[in-house]
This record gives sequence, C-alpha cells and structure tokens, in this order.
Amino acid sequence: MSQHVPPKSEIRMYRPQVEKSSLDRLREVFESGWIGLGPVTEKFEQELASTDLLGKHPVAVNSGTAALHLALVAAGVPKGSAVIVPANTFVSTASVALQHQCRVILADIERATGNIDLKSVREILEAEPDVSAIIAVHYSGIPCDIAGLNELSKKYEVTVVEDCAHAIGSMWRGRPMSESPHIQAYSFHATKSLAVGEGGCVTFPDAASAERAKRLRRLGIDTGARSWGNPYDIPELGFKYNMGDIMAAIGLAQLEGLQSKLQKRRSIVRRYRERLAGSPVELVREADDSDRSGGFAVPVLVKDRERVRKELDSAGIESEIYFRPLGEFPIGASRPTPVAERFSRDVICLPIHPLISLEEVDYVCDRLIECVA
Ligand SMILES: *Cc1c(COP(=O)(O)O)cnc(C)c1O
Repeated sequence: MSQHVPPKSEIRMYRPQVEKSSLDRLREVFESGWIGLGPVTEKFEQELASTDLLGKHPVAVNSGTAALHLALVAAGVPKGSAVIVPANTFVSTASVALQHQCRVILADIERATGNIDLKSVREILEAEPDVSAIIAVHYSGIPCDIAGLNELSKKYEVTVVEDCAHAIGSMWRGRPMSESPHIQAYSFHATKSLAVGEGGCVTFPDAASAERAKRLRRLGIDTGARSWGNPYDIPELGFKYNMGDIMAAIGLAQLEGLQSKLQKRRSIVRRYRERLAGSPVELVREADDSDRSGGFAVPVLVKDRERVRKELDSAGIESEIYFRPLGEFPIGASRPTPVAERFSRDVICLPIHPLISLEEVDYVCDRLIECVA
C-alpha cells in the first residue's frame, strides 16, 4: 500500500458540522434573559415536526437514552415484565429496560442488515409469556421491518419502540420514518446525524401521548391550572429529562442544513457500495430496494478485522466497531446470540460525515480492498 499517498488530513469517523447560524441563535438565547426549557425548545419541536425525517409529535429531551426510557414509560410497559432487545446495539437500548425494572431478553440479528431477526423475536415471544415490549434498532440507519414488527406487536400484544438513534432520514418500503405506527426515540448526541452535543427526542403517532410525555420529561409538572396560590400540579411523577433552549438553539441551526447533509451522507453510502462491490468486503445493507439507510454509519464485514483496522489506521483512516454484543455486558441477559457475536467480530464501520469528499471515500475503499486482498 506504500505507493499511494494518503490525503493531507486524517479521515475521521466524525466531524461536527456546526452551522454558521449557531452562534447568532445562541446569542439570541443568551440575550433573551432565559436559557432553560422555553420558547426555543418549542420552536425546535415545531421545526422537527414539520419534516418527515423523523416521527410525529416530537418531544425534545436531554439524550437519546432519556428518549428511550420515556418511550417505555409513556407506552405503559409494565414493571417486572420482559423487554426484547437486539444484541447488536448500544448499551442504552438495554439499560433503559433495566432502569424501568424490566428483564432484558436478547434477540439475535440478521448478518445481512445487522438488524433484529424477527424469527428470533418470534421464538422468544412463543417461549416467554411475560414479554411486554420489543425495542428494535434501525442499525446504522438501515431500517428494520417495521410492518413485520407491527404484526408481531398485534399478534402477541406487545409494545414496539423503535430506537431511531441512527435513523433520522431513513426510509422503510419507500415511506419516511414519520409514517411508522410506533413510538420512536432519536438521539442528537455529538456523533449523530443531527448533533447538538447532548440531546434527543421521543416521537409519538398520537398527540395525546406527546402531551403526557411533555409533563413526564419535566418531573411530571403541569402548570395548566396555575394560579396565585398554586404554582403547579403533579398528577403523575416524571423525570428530569427536558431539553433547554441552549441545546434547542443549536438544534434549530442543525436542522437548517439537515436535508443537504443527509443527501451528502447518502451519496457517500452509494460511493462506498459502488467501490466495494465485487470485492471480498461484505456490505451490510437494506433488505429491500425500497428501503433506504439515512447514512448514519457504513458497516462492512471482513475477515481478520483487527489487522485490517490497524492497517487502515496507519493509512490515516479512522474506523469504529458498532457494536460489541450486549451479552458481554452485565445486563443479566443469558440467551445466546451467535449471529450477533460473529457480526461483532467481523464488523468495521467506515468514516462517514458530511465533510468527507468522495475522493476520500475512494481512498478508504482502495486501502480497504488492499488490506483484505
Ligand atoms: C447513540 C445511541 C443511543 C443513545 O443516545 P444518547 O443520546 O447518547 O443517549 C441509543 N441507541 C443507539 C443505537 C445509539 O447509537
């Protein structure tokens, strides 16, 4: 690989693309005299609701993890029941179920998509009568079978929550994420496609659940019947999960360029796939031509992964492992997930963010193909 000259800068996994309007929007918040949960957060929610890149009736919170937990609470998942979670995900997907005093049962995944395997889910549902919910993750932005999950949810009377931390701008069967019938949780963490630093939102198919979630995200406080003698009521205890206007100002700026940033991500995904097609690198991709990844990550599967990652690193190319299988962590889950275990030994996620050029993608592909040859 020595005859190739690496590009000047290192090719990184993430680069925050901070919109220029962020500073003006932040200045406005600081000068307004109020920096907590307020009008800017409400504006951010209205703007989020006006795109079809994510679910309906968004409720802004302070992390994707909080969004997932609030989703379980709002869905009325009973404490003491069991929640099915795919083994190939970030720890939050499972830890929120434990926080909700539920037991976690790990479902295995499909090697082709990295997503939860509905056959595995059905096996668990047949064997375990106390399952009340499934949290499905749209891994790397590749959509899960939302209709299949919905069928299982009806047949077995369980709730489906979608972990959409990677799925902003994804499409399933040609339809946008806003058309899903399920509660969805999004993350606006520093590494995600819409990045405010720390933040997230939970979305609902109906407005009434969103109204309740807006109380629950701020300790359950309801100021609807406020009077001189009564500052607020608490009809139901909640959590300290609300977003504030500082993060919302950054979110509004991020939303401005979001369509074009997502387009850039999709063109990078396409380029990776074109250049790696026919090579020994195994692509992880959508199950159906009408599905579309929002392009959060580009996972590929290779043999001898550690050596390949080291060689990429010495060529100036950063990479990541999404994810270590959850069975390896102390979450009390014991069911074997062999496909997820194998996937996590083979997977490399390649650099993708809106500031990467297609030439840099070509460079990554050339180096990767050399490494695996
Ligand atoms: C990032 C992420 C989360 C959690 O989001 P935070 O905003 O960091 O709390 C949850 N699930 C998945 C799959 C993630 O990648």
